[in-house]
Amino acid sequence: MDILDSVVIGAGQAGLAASYFLRRRGIDHVVLDANPGPGGAWQHRWASLGMDDVHGVADLPGAAAPGRSPRAANVVVPDYFAGYEREQGLPVVRPVRVDRVDGEGDLLVVRAGERAWRTRTLVNATGTWTRPFVPYYPGAADFTGEQLHTADYPGAEHFRGRRVVVVGGGASAVQLLGELAPVADTLWVTRRPPVWRDDFDAAAGLAAVTAVEERVRRGLPPASVVSVTGLALRPQEQEAARLGAYDRLPMFARVERHGVRWADGRFEAVDAILWATGFRPAVDHLAPLHLRGPEGGIALLPVPGNVQGATTAARDPRVQLVGYGPSASTIGAPRAGRQAALAVARQLASPAVPGRADDLTG
Ligand code: FAD
Repeated sequence: MDILDSVVIGAGQAGLAASYFLRRRGIDHVVLDANPGPGGAWQHRWASLGMDDVHGVADLPGAAAPGRSPRAANVVVPDYFAGYEREQGLPVVRPVRVDRVDGEGDLLVVRAGERAWRTRTLVNATGTWTRPFVPYYPGAADFTGEQLHTADYPGAEHFRGRRVVVVGGGASAVQLLGELAPVADTLWVTRRPPVWRDDFDAAAGLAAVTAVEERVRRGLPPASVVSVTGLALRPQEQEAARLGAYDRLPMFARVERHGVRWADGRFEAVDAILWATGFRPAVDHLAPLHLRGPEGGIALLPVPGNVQGATTAARDPRVQLVGYGPSASTIGAPRAGRQAALAVARQLASPAVPGRADDLTG
């Protein structure tokens, strides 16, 4: 089996950007992607999510991203990625779902079923979409209604005339309530009171990303960048606001057969629970490399002056993580891709030893 200089896992925004910069440096690599076609997680977003609804898709290196329009993001962004892969001639192989990555002496072995790739370095860009997170609440298994996660949201019509509790304090919950409230009877519950802001600017964005970077540097599991930027209502959510959809309740204590109950005994009957409770990094295939620290997260080495540029796993300098922690946004991912390619080039030029990278933080 040939030995590659690098393998990128995942062909979303982060993986494509990394591949672009690896290619520019002449680094021999492949991009392995589990999806059947281009588009990363965007190909799976719900059909009613238009390009007017998304926060914004940042440019891939050297190619302007599609702008705002009413067209569906799950068509527009995959088309953009497909054109990019073609025009840049990126070496994407799909569908390949990586099961595990093992260390083998100086090399890493990337395995997908019977197939394996040997490589000197790895860029992990697997996003979060494949790991929807639903918190545990007692009684949830006995609920007789429907339970869905954002990742399975079938559109507002599915809920017409029904009573739906939307769980979660992030941008997805706000967006889904905006669609649901005009056609369904909604309840909104969040653990903490939502933080509304209408003054979100570049400085606030940097502060938000810096907060995530700080967590990752300390080896804590990353919070989502979007979760720390605060919430805002857009024109398309005003009708829901008038209907009172954003009058939030605290979290219920348990789920019962026909509804949800709070600790003080209050009960609300509901037909459906929509868990808008976010995602976790899809990094289980890296478990054999023991990158996680005692705090449960994969610590990344900080890059002074570049909070979105932290990509190198502190426990193994052969491994870069892009679209993870501080770079988990469409803006952060391309920047991290550039930094990851630089770190790969340095590693190839002067290989550092796994387990010793902590020394570099000092
Ligand atoms: P992804 O796009 O998820 O790509 C990861 C790729 O890796 C996928 O193709 C997947 O199939 C592949 N993969 C995963 N596991 C494996 C494996 N084991 N083997 C092989 N391949 C694998 N961010 C913004 O900045 N702006 C927005 O407007 C915005 N809108 C969002 C809307 C929604 C509904 C959600 C859920 C998130 C949104 N985000 C937004 C966050 C967004 O997910 C990221 O910004 C960005 O798209 C993630 O890119 P990525 O390349 O890291 O991951």
